[in-house]
Amino acid sequence: MDFTISPRIEDYRARIARFVEDEILPIEEMREAYDDHGNIRLDWLEPLRDKARAEGLWCLQLAPETGGAGLGKVGMAVCYEEMNRSIFGPAVFNSAAPDDGNMMVLEQAGTEAQKERWLKPIAEGEVRSAFAMTEPHPGSGSDPSMMLTTAKRDGDKYVIQGRKWFITGAGEAQHFILMAKTSDDPRRGLTAFLFDRAQSGWRIDRRIPIMGPEEHGGHCEMVFEGLEIPAENMLLEEGRGLKITQMRLGPARLTHCMRWLGLAKRSVEIATTYANERFAFGQRLSKRESVQMMLGGLAMDIEVGRLLVMKAAWELDQGSYARKEVSMAKVHVANLLHRAADIAIQINGARGYSTDTPLEWIYRYARQARLVDGADEVHKMVLSRRLEEEGREFWSWA
Ligand SMILES: Cc1cc2nc3c(=O)[nH]c(=O)nc-3n(C[C@H](O)[C@H](O)[C@H](O)COP(=O)(O)OP(=O)(O)OC[C@H]3O[C@@H](n4cnc5c(N)ncnc54)[C@H](O)[C@@H]3O)c2cc1C
Repeated sequence: MDFTISPRIEDYRARIARFVEDEILPIEEMREAYDDHGNIRLDWLEPLRDKARAEGLWCLQLAPETGGAGLGKVGMAVCYEEMNRSIFGPAVFNSAAPDDGNMMVLEQAGTEAQKERWLKPIAEGEVRSAFAMTEPHPGSGSDPSMMLTTAKRDGDKYVIQGRKWFITGAGEAQHFILMAKTSDDPRRGLTAFLFDRAQSGWRIDRRIPIMGPEEHGGHCEMVFEGLEIPAENMLLEEGRGLKITQMRLGPARLTHCMRWLGLAKRSVEIATTYANERFAFGQRLSKRESVQMMLGGLAMDIEVGRLLVMKAAWELDQGSYARKEVSMAKVHVANLLHRAADIAIQINGARGYSTDTPLEWIYRYARQARLVDGADEVHKMVLSRRLEEEGREFWSWA
């Protein structure tokens, strides 16, 4: 691997960094810019999105023909990290979850007609989207084979019955990707469908209250009571739902990591600034070896995370699914983010526990990182299975 960043990617990175510094961080400091769920208010977000779009910093992850910049995953790793120096950054550049993962899978798997109908409005920022897979007990969670939501074929449409929960953004999404069971076949039993909020036969049961700040539209529990989806709104073919899940979740997990590295770096930035200016017992905090060990350790762990993310991004750009690499990056960076926020709060003392800095926001948000898109234990189980299969080849360079 060559770690040189091309001048084009570096140009995007520098422009994003400037935009975050000048346009977003000042707004992040204003309490009136926050909605009731700790996110940027939509009426504050839209003007920022317009500015980002006008500066050509919009939806960079997509191919140029879809309205993006074709950065590739390596370029995205560089840019996403920079965007998430601010907690509001990804939403401003239309690179926030779950829209970015939904857009990328629609770009990859959608027909031309599906891209026009379902992808274009998300890419243009006109609508938001959601990905509905997880179900409450006893349905599908870590194990997708436990899916209970069914799609029964009836002529040229499918009829959906079931329940999903923790569906990010569902409260405001217009376009949904829905996973449902179409047969008992263990490999070809799931199918991915597209539906629009305006369709009848489904409802939001509740917006689930959570410990952290929320994406726009929250995390919702959805009930399907006879939603009818025309067969033309199926992604790929019937029974290819697991394939869609693989196509979506691999890159989406990695884009989470790219953003979380930005938040981890921001945590260190806030802690370092305070440690440099704060005195206790006649000495600057930054001169204390115990503080140096904390900050030095975090700096090293962030760099380990970046290397794991870059390796996985590079593998994806080569056409691999990079399953091992993505799992390793996901576990490492999710835990790193949690640790970075925790240590930064400790170094900041009571200030760290206040809402005067975004540290408490990052800390509450970080806890979900070890659960979403595969809990730590599930990724480690996958890694252990691969180790068992591959033995010493697990670490092969090929
Ligand atoms: C904030 C948030 C946003 C989310 N957004 C979405 C979304 O937009 N769309 C969507 O479909 N889902 C979403 N989810 C759901 C998320 O993907 C699931 O929570 C996750 O896949 C785990 O499933 P589960 O919660 O059912 O945990 P369970 O499957 O019930 O597992 C519970 C725990 O058991 C342990 N465990 C599970 N399997 C193993 C194993 N093999 N070995 C050892 N231990 C194990 C783990 O510690 C795990 O945390 C979201 C969740 C959260 C918290």
